[in-house]
Amino acid sequence: MPSGTTPPPAQPDPSPAGPGPAQGAGDGGPVGRVRPIVLDGDPVLHRPCAPVTAFDADLAQLEADMVVSMHAADGVGLAANQIGVDARVFVMDCPDAAGERVVATVVNPVLRLPGVFARRATDDEGCLSVPGEVAAVERVTSAVVTGVDVRGEPVRVSASGLAAVCLQHEVDHLDGLLYVDRLDADERAEVLRAAGLAPR
Ligand SMILES: [Zn+2]
Repeated sequence: MPSGTTPPPAQPDPSPAGPGPAQGAGDGGPVGRVRPIVLDGDPVLHRPCAPVTAFDADLAQLEADMVVSMHAADGVGLAANQIGVDARVFVMDCPDAAGERVVATVVNPVLRLPGVFARRATDDEGCLSVPGEVAAVERVTSAVVTGVDVRGEPVRVSASGLAAVCLQHEVDHLDGLLYVDRLDADERAEVLRAAGLAPR
């Protein structure tokens, strides 16, 4: 595990298909294992994640687990704390404004938003940790994230459209925020209740 991480909850594989598909992180990396998605209300989602300091086999395994867990859940992005791991890592496989897939893993990401006059759009947004619900959230329409990959090599992801929303949403997760935290209190309670979760 990367420094400062907590072990994932010992739960059985939730996938009805059993173990996840034999899908690694590419280039002969480790094979990922589908891990349970943590839901809103679990403390690991509501505090900032610890920066990664160890670029080791455990981190490569975490990336592989996150990629297969994201795909198994039909998500377009996943933050490490959504599988219960306290580490600043997210993965994404998300279309941009032109429909091109943006596939990335970013460790210790830093979000670089355009200036205050940047174009913004309000669209329905959902989250694997608030299953089945969506709500309108305003986001900038293009964003850049810099960081490193699991080997510590620099990574830069520049994205538009849904992929830009994904960058903002995943970095929010690593800062301990869910999209529902950007809603007003009444709407947040309503969305959480509709998802079968405790309002807060
Ligand atoms: Zn989310």
